[in-house]
Amino acid sequence: MNARSAEHVRLATLEQRDGELLVNEIPVTRLVGRVGRTPFYAYDRNLIAARVAELRAALPPRVSLHYAIKANPMPAVVGLLCDLVDGFDVASHGEMLVALNAGMSPRDVSFAGPAKQEYELRAAVAAGICINCESETELARIAHFADELAVKAEVALRVNPSFELKGSGMKMGGSARQFGIDAERIPSAIETLHGAGLQFAGLHIFCGSQNLNADAIVEANRRTVELAAALCEKASTRPRYVNIGGGYGIPYFPSDQALDLARVGTGLKEMLDAEIALDDVEIVVELGRYLVGEAGYYVTRVSDVKISQGQVFVMVDGGLHHHLANSGNFGQVLRKNYPIVVGNKLDQTAAGTVTVVGPLCTPLDLVADHVSLPEIAVGDLIVVMQSGAYGATASPQQFLGHPAAPEILV
Ligand SMILES: *Cc1c(COP(=O)(O)O)cnc(C)c1O
Repeated sequence: MNARSAEHVRLATLEQRDGELLVNEIPVTRLVGRVGRTPFYAYDRNLIAARVAELRAALPPRVSLHYAIKANPMPAVVGLLCDLVDGFDVASHGEMLVALNAGMSPRDVSFAGPAKQEYELRAAVAAGICINCESETELARIAHFADELAVKAEVALRVNPSFELKGSGMKMGGSARQFGIDAERIPSAIETLHGAGLQFAGLHIFCGSQNLNADAIVEANRRTVELAAALCEKASTRPRYVNIGGGYGIPYFPSDQALDLARVGTGLKEMLDAEIALDDVEIVVELGRYLVGEAGYYVTRVSDVKISQGQVFVMVDGGLHHHLANSGNFGQVLRKNYPIVVGNKLDQTAAGTVTVVGPLCTPLDLVADHVSLPEIAVGDLIVVMQSGAYGATASPQQFLGHPAAPEILV
């Protein structure tokens, strides 16, 4: 089977029948028929549910699982996860509405974001969700809206910790940051919060993303829990919960090793068992890409094959405008190829090296650079794997005026 470029990525679940990629048992050409055109995104609901089950089995029962909606806010995906996880983390008023529309209880929806606007804070107070407050100014605004709406608003404080999650794709703590309130100022912020008649919900400490190193995550978890315990002790208060972030990564590239989830779970359990100060406090882990990233496929169709100075170019109908991360332009320092397969030729072996490009008039619109694929013909389906997170909504879909990518949950 032609899984060369995908060898490192959960080959066991790369299901095929008669050479066709199956998405939750449905051949990819049938999905093309269902959608009516290419390109599109397809998400496998079974893989999402299986991932949640793996997490439940690995993490201590005391840990609550939240989904960070920004990874994939498709309402059907959020609706599916509503029945599987314990809460949603949103980062805008729009995401808040998606979370509540899906049916999540407001109490289990938390709202983080470094520049929340007044209309967003007012709506969050009105909705009764928990706001992860990121500055003293924001705290005063929340108090104002709680007064105006006569609501006892629940507020958690987002802490900018003095440490980072080592080896993360994106760092969100450990130095001067736009996120949260510096740890030293948290005790006084808790006092202000109580003084303003607000309800103290807890602390939110998120220090990194896309991390594949279990030991680094365990170490960050330990420091996070210790910091939370120390801050609460200093402020003589007990939170309802402590959100210790997540940062669990998924393998995208041949050099990536899947995260050792069992090790993360064991480390977390040992550490929580030993931490007396936060006994009985709910511990929340918030994950985005780990829940949905490996369950998604971006399906494109070959429209032309041509040769330039000996190099074979495969032209497909989708690209950077739908899948910015795959093109290497979503925060990556060095571009590497996502795993791709020819969705209708999984039973064929590689026939040569090609470069796959999209329809945009820019050399940045690269789908896969110098990859080994079977003999390619017009009409073949090039499928980008690991595409369930930071895809459709993390891409400049208006750029060059092509239609937006439809999304289906299969
Ligand atoms: C983006 C974000 C997440 C999700 O990150 P992933 O890498 O997708 O898991 C979680 N929490 C916060 C606060 C975020 O900003």
